[in-house]
Amino acid sequence: MNQAMYINTKGLILREVPYKETSKILTVLTADAGRITVSAKGARRKGSKTAAATQLLCFSDMTLSENRDRYTLTEARPIEMFEGLRYDLEALALGSYFAQVLEAVSDEDMQNPAILSLGLNALYVLSENKYPQEIIKPAFEMRLMALSGFAPLLDACSVCGSENPVNPRLDLTGGTIRCRDCREEGEFSDTAPLCQGSFDALRHIISCDSKRVFSFSLGLDAAKRLYRASESYLKTQLDRGFSTLEYYNSVRI
Ligand SMILES: [Zn+2]
Repeated sequence: MNQAMYINTKGLILREVPYKETSKILTVLTADAGRITVSAKGARRKGSKTAAATQLLCFSDMTLSENRDRYTLTEARPIEMFEGLRYDLEALALGSYFAQVLEAVSDEDMQNPAILSLGLNALYVLSENKYPQEIIKPAFEMRLMALSGFAPLLDACSVCGSENPVNPRLDLTGGTIRCRDCREEGEFSDTAPLCQGSFDALRHIISCDSKRVFSFSLGLDAAKRLYRASESYLKTQLDRGFSTLEYYNSVRI
């Protein structure tokens, strides 16, 4: 006989898919077990006690039963609903993109508390409107890249070695920085143009204390460069696009 084991954990709902009449299948980024798939039986039933805690982008306290590597939700209580996202189309669209990227970089059954913590912080500042989305988005993207093993090398120009590259450009495939006029012979890799402001911001995002990821300011043009460079870098490094990102860029003012 197989004995179910009960686990208590906290997790962020990255995806919810309706299943059968009244159930959902959840993709959850947990503190203890990495990314897991959980079936939430009856979570769509009227008056269900788990309805709120199993919504997309809700951070919840959960009790799961595990049987042969399959998780079933037995109890759930919301810890943080990120209410500010629920009434703001743009913020919700950006939050949904964050969830899709978190799912893409997280591993099944391999815990990475720093990634969960970054995700929660990003959703919090987004929900509370603490910083402009033009800051939150690239900061989340580049810090997540760094935490997932895709950190760009920003110490010095990869060609001439200068610590202060002139008109710096971010090499999207190589993950390096170089001066605009520095080029390896016969090289044609894609680069994104930066400027001093956006380059400094990038260095800050990659290397600062985790509490300060979103605290920096930028002029409008520098913010635009950072925005484009970060988005292109993430897509190039992960070698894929994101439907939620396309949606966000289509609703963004
Ligand atoms: Zn150089």
